[in-house]
Amino acid sequence: MAFVITAPCKEEKSGECVDVCPVDCIEEGKDMFYIDPAICIDCGACEAVCPVEAIYYEEDLIEEDEPYLQKAKEFFGQ
Ligand code: SF4
Repeated sequence: MAFVITAPCKEEKSGECVDVCPVDCIEEGKDMFYIDPAICIDCGACEAVCPVEAIYYEEDLIEEDEPYLQKAKEFFGQ
C-alpha cells in the first residue's frame, strides 16, 4: 500500500511533500509530483503538508483518482 498524489497537484506542484518524506520516495515529474509506491512506508507526512489536498491513501482513492496509482507506477518503471 502507498499514498498517491492526484489531480490537484497538476495545478499546484508546490513540493512540500518532497521535503517531509522520510524515505525520499517523492519525485518531480513533468506535470506533477509522484510517490514511488514500492518505497512509500505509509507514514502520511506528505498528506499532512499538501496545501491542495492532492494526496490520499491508496485504499481511500475515489474511482476517478485510481489511475494516478498506475501513473505513479509507470513513472517509476514498475
Ligand atoms: Fe513519503 Fe510518508 Fe508520503 Fe509515503 S506517506 S510518500 S513515505 S511522506
